[in-house]
Amino acid sequence: MDWDEAASCRSLDPDLFFPVAGETVYMTQIEAIRQVCAACPAASRCLEWALATGEPDGIWAGTTPGERRRLRAARRNPGPATDPAHSRARKADAA
Ligand code: SF4
Repeated sequence: MDWDEAASCRSLDPDLFFPVAGETVYMTQIEAIRQVCAACPAASRCLEWALATGEPDGIWAGTTPGERRRLRAARRNPGPATDPAHSRARKADAA
């Protein structure tokens, strides 16, 4: 089964997932979509697909285009490790 066959948005109007910036309902529409995505069994695969394809428009897995750009950038340039165990392992490797 493809991930989109399990998507909670399958029976919804696709236009709902492409809110137009500047419209007064923009944030209200995004919050409504996020509630749908939060309960979607395909959300993680939807997000990975949107990140992998560089989907420039619409709300995918509850993320806006700007949020996905930041996620892609963070994956390209991960910051310093915050996991203490990982940090210890890196220090031991450097010693
Ligand atoms: S996470 Fe949201 S946009 Fe993605 S498939 Fe599910 S309902 Fe659709």
